[in-house]
Amino acid sequence: MATTHKTRMLIIGSGPGGLSAAIYGARAGMQPIVVQGLQPGGQLTITTDVENYPGFREVIQGPWLMQEMEAQAVHVGTRMMYDVITSVDLEGPTFKAIGDSGDVYEGETLVIATGAQAQWLGVPGEQELSGKGVSACATCDGFFYRGKKVVVIGGGNTAVEEALYLTNHSDEVTLIHRRDTLRAEKILQDRLFANPKIKVVWNQRVERFLDGENGELRALALIDTQTGEQSEILTDGAFVAIGHAPATELFKGKLPMDETGYLLVEPGTPKTEIPGVFACGDVMDHTYRQAITAAGTGCMAALDAERYLAHRDFAEAAKVEA
Ligand code: FAD
Ligand code: NAP
Repeated sequence: MATTHKTRMLIIGSGPGGLSAAIYGARAGMQPIVVQGLQPGGQLTITTDVENYPGFREVIQGPWLMQEMEAQAVHVGTRMMYDVITSVDLEGPTFKAIGDSGDVYEGETLVIATGAQAQWLGVPGEQELSGKGVSACATCDGFFYRGKKVVVIGGGNTAVEEALYLTNHSDEVTLIHRRDTLRAEKILQDRLFANPKIKVVWNQRVERFLDGENGELRALALIDTQTGEQSEILTDGAFVAIGHAPATELFKGKLPMDETGYLLVEPGTPKTEIPGVFACGDVMDHTYRQAITAAGTGCMAALDAERYLAHRDFAEAAKVEA
């Protein structure tokens, strides 16, 4: 039978953004509910080594880090729900979310932490070699390719920025693009073309990712989009940078978004245009997209939710007295 769950702070999403909001919200006595979604723990559960999350001298594993975050959130009083939200009602004064289970979640405040997913090429070998040479995050994994050959696939700002970033680690970076002009801004293109460590390969589509004897990425099979000619490029690492899709389908027509679907917030805050509704992490951040920034904005969302409730409760008490 469908149940209604009520809370002072409803959080949709259980990545670093949602769980950090939960830790702060629980410690502030808001008894948060986190609806975990299809990927409990978020994107870090599909990676291995994490070397840039502060607090750990040694390399840690993404799934382990997220288990610890979840345990910490539960320990301080968060309720975890294994459900996927399929629709939301943001009319207020309480915000409602309906789960795939049929359960209804009602929050006096709402924190949206649904994240973003990297877009993948969808060709053979890509998912099989993910974490074994194939990645969608140069900031996260570039370090592992020090002194090695890497390729970046894509022609937008992200691809060019990833290629430039990778030159900090690698002397041989090849950008592979399916057309003969880049979509990236001119200033980034200028930097790319001026960098002697970067070579651009035009008009090439990746047909498949090929592994070596060690089960790690060895090469990419390419096809020329003009001539159909087939070739192979040897590489140690491949970074797919063809765009990210924020998980904002639920909020279309209900909250303002930019042209690529990221939720818009008041600059420097997690506040959406609806008082009491906050957004944190990758779903509102197409620039940094890191666990630490998601956690930071999750903390901000909880602090702002607490302040919102304090002001509201104070105003209501004043009305009763008057
Ligand atoms: P996410 O982690 O994307 O979590 C989103 C959450 O929302 C998930 O729990 C999902 O189930 C939930 N959700 C979505 N839709 C719904 C719904 N309808 N109902 C309920 N729940 C829903 N960053 C680093 O700092 N260091 C790294 O080393 C690093 N490595 C990475 C490696 C890989 C392979 C990838 C893909 C990313 C990596 N990142 C890394 C980036 C980092 O994972 C993200 O920036 C971070 O996870 C964003 O956190 P988030 O909380 O905003 O969202
Ligand atoms: P994007 O601008 O959509 O570019 C995606 C690139 O990937 C395009 O070059 C596209 O090729 C290519 N691509 C898409 N699907 C492909 C496929 N199946 N096979 C091969 N190539 C494929 O995405 P983005 O670069 O991630 O940027 C997203 C948004 O964030 C943009 O608005 C961007 O300006 C912004 N952004 C800004 C900054 C910054 O301001 N510094 C940094 C990063 C991102 P085609 O060109 O042929 O379509």
